[in-house]
Amino acid sequence: MKRLLPTSTAGSLPKPSWLAEPEKLWSPWKLKNQALIDGKQDALRIALQEQQSAGIDIVSDGEQTRQHFVTTFIENLSGVDFENKKTVRIRDRYDASVPGVVGPIARQKPVFVEDAKFLRSQTKQPIKWALPGPMTMVDTLYDDYYQDRKTLAFEFAKALNAEAKELEAAGVDIIQFDEPAFNVFLDDVCDWGITALEKATQGLKCETAVHICYGYGIKANTDWKKTLGNEWRHYEQTFPALQQSSIDIVSLECHNGRVPLEVLEMIRGKKVMVGAIDVASEQIETPEEVAETLRSALKYVDANQLYPCTNCGMAPLPRHIARAKLNALSAGAAIVRQELEQAL
Ligand SMILES: [Zn+2]
Repeated sequence: MKRLLPTSTAGSLPKPSWLAEPEKLWSPWKLKNQALIDGKQDALRIALQEQQSAGIDIVSDGEQTRQHFVTTFIENLSGVDFENKKTVRIRDRYDASVPGVVGPIARQKPVFVEDAKFLRSQTKQPIKWALPGPMTMVDTLYDDYYQDRKTLAFEFAKALNAEAKELEAAGVDIIQFDEPAFNVFLDDVCDWGITALEKATQGLKCETAVHICYGYGIKANTDWKKTLGNEWRHYEQTFPALQQSSIDIVSLECHNGRVPLEVLEMIRGKKVMVGAIDVASEQIETPEEVAETLRSALKYVDANQLYPCTNCGMAPLPRHIARAKLNALSAGAAIVRQELEQAL
């Protein structure tokens, strides 16, 4: 990738209202059977087109084919009972009705591979595909079988690795693992979280990324953020271990939050997807605001390793807001790209 500051999104984009109820997580599908399969592909085409017309460099499926970034993968594994859901507390923050582990975890069939092939067939641009990370998966269900978080995480890592290898073969350039749980269970990250992640990426030749954030802009998350104090230093505890890991790219939240950007110095040498778009606010960033966040990050990230991005997924936002934010990201990156090129 030669272009400086290639832009991308953290992953999800809003779904069209004819596919699923907008501005809602776990929104049920409005279509069935073949119409649903076709509808998801149409939505994926639109998500791609919206990224392209905004000038996004590394494109994704906008997660149009999945109901939720974690549970959709889990529901496709054997050993998981999604008929008898139970209510659990997710990331110590909000209650959700989730499936449970009742037997040995196994991936019997590909989950997103056909979708990835479809996206690959639609564009020659680099593509990024998001999967849930093992720790975040562990935190999104109940476990009556292994009854040990680390053991379960390693089982999930095996299933993720099988999926990731097929995604790579389908032509995915970057496989990203979403680990919002990495900002919550800080000791576990260093004890087994990063090891689980490395197991999930074992043998991959494509680039690997981990996305760590403070979540979607839903109330439970914004309320939690208010309890975190003036400076969010979570990354500080986990970055030394991440720096030592084999993961190529770290994707994190940098705009409108209280993350002191000097923490980025701790992962110098890694590529960094710098979140320069706030997904918890409907206010559209100006290109200059985006540029300012990128310039601040450039103090700690080498220019050829900085990837402008969104703080998190934009699934819960209104579509016109998400589109405007994509444009702002592109325009902001263009300002700084020009500054860098003039300085050369
Ligand atoms: Zn996120």
